[in-house]
Amino acid sequence: MANNVITRFAPSPTGFLHIGGARTALFNWLFAKHHGGKMLLRIEDTDRTRSTQEAVDAILDGLTWLGLDWDGEPVSQFARVARHQEVVEAMLANGTAYRCYCSPEELTEMREKARAEGRPPRYDGTWRDRDASEAPAGVAPAIRLRAPLEGETVVEDLVQGRVIFPNKDLDDLVLMRSDGVPTYMLAVVVDDHDMAVTHIIRGDDHLTNAARQTLIFQAMGWDVPKMSHIPLIHGPDGAKLSKRHGATGAEAYRAMGYLPAAMRNYLARLGWSHGDEEIMSTEDMIQWFGTDAIGKSPSRFDFKKLENLNGHY
Ligand code: GLU
Repeated sequence: MANNVITRFAPSPTGFLHIGGARTALFNWLFAKHHGGKMLLRIEDTDRTRSTQEAVDAILDGLTWLGLDWDGEPVSQFARVARHQEVVEAMLANGTAYRCYCSPEELTEMREKARAEGRPPRYDGTWRDRDASEAPAGVAPAIRLRAPLEGETVVEDLVQGRVIFPNKDLDDLVLMRSDGVPTYMLAVVVDDHDMAVTHIIRGDDHLTNAARQTLIFQAMGWDVPKMSHIPLIHGPDGAKLSKRHGATGAEAYRAMGYLPAAMRNYLARLGWSHGDEEIMSTEDMIQWFGTDAIGKSPSRFDFKKLENLNGHY
């Protein structure tokens, strides 16, 4: 692979750096280092009610403690809102987006009707082909993607394989709300494109988003980055790792005296392996890391293993 690989870690600053996020950052970092590329950091702070500066600081601190450096300055997604709006305008101009004047009541009714008929709550296309002259006076429109109604969208995922989404299940998703605020889905695509990201590595809870984002990339005629959706981390009981399993933040491990090198080694092996190697230096991991050896099933967090590893460092 050419050495122009660019990955990114894109946390939402709504809390500390949790273990899942730390592992995602590590995989992006190892992948970039392995290819002599770059890892960028994007703070996804468009949700103004949930994003906090304390969380941004905690995430940067956590990454720094783990020794995961990023290239360039962290990018604030919120600061790029004018650029996101510009792309929405471009999509209106090229016909891949349209204005939707449905009221919240109409949308609720649409959802309820679909539910009653046992269909997924998909937008029914009311405004897909209507002329702006039919728009109700004084109503600000939302902007929607004109998603294809037939065929399928394929995500060629380096971990999950070929994942096929029938287009009829993907919605005419909202790109910009009626208050002029671009949606998260649109912002991610514009930022990944503008930051020249070549590889997206993130949790598999974003796999459905990947199909929707692919449609936006295609609507703009942009290259779709290579995707790797990694399985989530579970607690020792097999349920998704959460606060009730105890410490879930990098901060807590630092406070307990774990060493960053042990943490890196431990996190790398949560979902990725290199033969039977248990103890790997960071140099080893950089040399061996690849998405082909990331497993498809969730990995279990095992405090004992971490404890044992810590003893080796
Ligand atoms: N901000 C998202 C999250 O924290 C990640 C989005 C992405 O990687 O595309 O889950």
